[in-house]
Amino acid sequence: MMSTTATPEPIPYWRGLIRQYASFLPVEEDTPIVSLHEGNTPLIHCERLVKAIGGEFDLYLKFEGLNPTASFKDRGMTMAMTKAVEKGAQVVICASTGNTSASAAAYAARAKLKCVVILPDGNIAMGKLAQALMYGAQTIAIRGNFDEALNIVRELGETGKVEIVNSINPFRIEGQKTASFEICDQLGRAPDFHFLPVGNAGNITAYWKGYQEYHQSGRVSSTPAMCGYQAAGSAPIVDGHPVESPETLATAIRIGNPASWKGALNALEQSSGWIDKVTDEAIVEAYKLVASTEGVFVEPACAAPLAGLIQSVKAGRIPAGSVVTATMTGHGLKDPDRAIGCAAQKPDVCEPHLEDVSRLIGL
Ligand SMILES: *Cc1c(COP(=O)(O)O)cnc(C)c1O
Repeated sequence: MMSTTATPEPIPYWRGLIRQYASFLPVEEDTPIVSLHEGNTPLIHCERLVKAIGGEFDLYLKFEGLNPTASFKDRGMTMAMTKAVEKGAQVVICASTGNTSASAAAYAARAKLKCVVILPDGNIAMGKLAQALMYGAQTIAIRGNFDEALNIVRELGETGKVEIVNSINPFRIEGQKTASFEICDQLGRAPDFHFLPVGNAGNITAYWKGYQEYHQSGRVSSTPAMCGYQAAGSAPIVDGHPVESPETLATAIRIGNPASWKGALNALEQSSGWIDKVTDEAIVEAYKLVASTEGVFVEPACAAPLAGLIQSVKAGRIPAGSVVTATMTGHGLKDPDRAIGCAAQKPDVCEPHLEDVSRLIGL
């Protein structure tokens, strides 16, 4: 135990993930870095959740909801926007289930670039829409789904007039891989298993790239099994074919034809991991469980890998003593409607009297 009288160590000034991990990233001395000081998110040890699940392993949640726009998308966006500015782009564009547009809009504002975001009308969480509008992006809602939005963006990209900042932009993957570096730095080793949600599959591709690069550089002596989870109504990779009308309440992973499909398969195979699907009911259970047992409020997509972890423990796939990490990709406040709709409790309403309040508390 540290003595209570010890002088606290000064906190280093965190300059964002590009500067922290520059030697692993495609940047030069004079690259104009666009940053909101993203990264350096907490890795939270969760003993109560493990107890609730009933396993004997160490679980750490990488809480990516604490990035500047409240999702992991900022890791890729700092890199993509930096490279867009470096090459002199004027307009950036993305298709999004919400978080990519929030992040692109914020970093474009920071970089003074015009930003256009294309969203599936009616299927985007309120917080994410609020962000795109506030950061000043031109926001176009199509009467279609994410896959259709991405097809349009791909075609616009071919005109050469706009820079695509979806994860088909390879710089997004480069930025996102730094989450693996941080996890290894924070743990002092690589985990045995890494769980995460899979939508467009950019993130699972990026994490695997990051773990491999850290291993090859000699900073860690192993790499984890990558364990990806899709929602049952939106599980193209698990089912082995594109899904034309994907459905799930976890809108961030409501994607029927993932752009990084191959990258995901690669990660699963090379890491001896697996990909599976979980029902929306299991997602909602896990969504409530992690908030109530650990005080970690995430958006529904993040609960998919937690539901998957519960499934994996039941199936005996997680040996005792394992070190397990899971990415909580976005903050729960992104989707307050869903949270209030799912919460077990509603507010107790009463008159503004001491006795009424006391009665409700049971005092
Ligand atoms: C984008 C996103 C995902 C899916 O990540 P992919 O890289 O598309 O697989 C999962 N959760 C949240 C909160 C997201 O914003």
